[in-house]
Amino acid sequence: KDHSSALLELRDVGKYFGGLKAVDHVNISVNEGDLHCLIGPNGAGKSTIFKMVMGVYKPTMGSIYFKNKNITNLKSWDRVRQGVSIKMQIPGVFGELTVYENMKIAAQRYYRHSELKNKILEICDLLGITHLRDEIVNNLSHGQQQWLEIGMSLASDPELLLLDEPAAGMGPEETNFTAELIRKLNQKGITILFIDHDMDFVKKIARKVTVLHFGKTFAEGSVEEIESNQDVVDIYLGK
Ligand code: ADP
Ligand code: MG
Repeated sequence: KDHSSALLELRDVGKYFGGLKAVDHVNISVNEGDLHCLIGPNGAGKSTIFKMVMGVYKPTMGSIYFKNKNITNLKSWDRVRQGVSIKMQIPGVFGELTVYENMKIAAQRYYRHSELKNKILEICDLLGITHLRDEIVNNLSHGQQQWLEIGMSLASDPELLLLDEPAAGMGPEETNFTAELIRKLNQKGITILFIDHDMDFVKKIARKVTVLHFGKTFAEGSVEEIESNQDVVDIYLGK
C-alpha cells in the first residue's frame, strides 16, 4: 500500500449492528507523535472505532492500517505486539488485589522476572501512585483506579495508546492530573488517540480533533478550528 506518515489509518471503515450504522465510511489518520481527540455525542460511534482498532470488533467494511501495515484481520494480541494498547471506557482492574499485583498481571508477560519490579515501579511513579502500591484497589479513589488502568495499558510499551474517556467521572483536580499525565505520556513519545466529550478537557491537551456524529466524520481540525466551526457548535457544543 502507498506510504503515509500516519501511524494509524482508518480507511473507509464501517461497523453495522444489524440495521444500525454505528460507524459509517469513516476515514481517520492519526499522525505519529500526535495527541488526537475523537469527540462526539453519546452513541456517535467513538468506542466502536476503538474496539475495531483493537480487534474486539471486526469492521463491516474498510481497512485499518498501523505503521502502513494492514492490521484489519490481526488478532488483538498481535496488535498489542505491534504496539497498540488501550484503556477501555469500563475499568478492568482487579478490585480485591493490590495496585502492585494488578500491575504485575499486566506487565509480567512483557518483562523478565529481573526487570519486572523496576518496570512496575517506574510506571507507578509516572502515574503518581507509588505510595499506593500495596493498597487494595477497591480502596482507591475513582481517579486513582483510572490511572492504574492507564498504567496497566502502558505495560506493553505501546507506540499508540487509545484512551476511552480517561477523565470520565473525575472531579476538577483529578481531571487536571489526568490531562497532565496524558501530556507527559505524549512527550515521552507515545502517540495518543483519546475519546472525550468535555470540550474544556479536550482544549487543554488535544492538537487535532475529529468530531463524530451518527457514525460519520462531521468535522476535523485543530481545537481552534473545531471550536469556531458553526456546524459543530450547532450539533454539539452549543447544547
Ligand atoms: P460512543 O462511544 O460514541 O458513545 P458507541 O461506539 O459505544 O458510541 O456506540 C455507537 C452505537 O452503536 C450506539 O447506538 C450503540 O448503542 C451501538 N452499539 C455499540 N456496540 C453495540 C453492540 N455490540 N451491539 C449493538 N449495538 C451496539
Ligand atoms: Mg463510548
